[in-house]
Amino acid sequence: RAAPMPALDHRLGAGRYILITFRDVSQARRIDRMRSDFVANASHELRTPLASLRGFIETLQGPARDDHKAHERFLGIMHDQATRMSRLVDDLLSLSRLELKANIAPDQMVELGALLGHVRDSLQPFAADLGVEISLDLPPHPVQVAGDRDELIEVFENLVENACKYGQEGKRVEVRLSAAEGGNTEVSVTDFGPGIAPEHVPRITERFYRVNVEASRSKKGTGLGLAIVKHILTRHRARLAVKSEIGKGTVFVVKF
Ligand code: ADP
Repeated sequence: RAAPMPALDHRLGAGRYILITFRDVSQARRIDRMRSDFVANASHELRTPLASLRGFIETLQGPARDDHKAHERFLGIMHDQATRMSRLVDDLLSLSRLELKANIAPDQMVELGALLGHVRDSLQPFAADLGVEISLDLPPHPVQVAGDRDELIEVFENLVENACKYGQEGKRVEVRLSAAEGGNTEVSVTDFGPGIAPEHVPRITERFYRVNVEASRSKKGTGLGLAIVKHILTRHRARLAVKSEIGKGTVFVVKF
């Protein structure tokens, strides 16, 4: 931006003085664009079940007014759509809550073995419905990390739930905690499902990025799970690594 400075002209003598400042706006523009893409995506995701709800309400008020069999079926679908909207709103709130406290270091000490046991127990019925068995491999000693218990539960629930949903045909999900004396603490979640193609791997933690939108929707996905995981891990100064091979399976590793 260049601006003449007439107020200084008379004091600094003849000629005009120009103040030039440089500011790199490309980063700010990129963030603005990401923000508006996000709002557009979120609106679209909410609009789809809303449109479907409206359609069913209108059908129930009109053509299917006296069709009692249709009432039951349509109400079931409407209930599913409303549940999907609640899930999406919960995930959106989770993300915005995490963004607000992105720079606050978590301050509790959390024992990871007990936490992973809790995650396995809470997902056991869900896995059993899909015919998947979750195994848990823990070291003989307790493993503590500094963190927020509820947030870490959210991380591992997301990873194990994804491994069960998307790796379903592998029938097996392995959760392993390893902690070398004075070394790194790692948790891996392994499935033996179809895997993720290499071109998708770098993008799966983006908000609303899904390898297959219909598959994700039919598995009750919002497309926000791994974005939430990434936010929580950043706050915990931990990293997420993904190794995947088509036809063999996927390993997500959380490195503290
Ligand atoms: P979603 O709500 O769709 O599950 P996520 O953010 O949790 O969203 O995951 C993003 C996408 O990454 C999923 O839609 C799926 O395509 C892919 N994905 C995640 N975990 C796995 C996995 N274990 N195996 C194969 N694909 C996966």
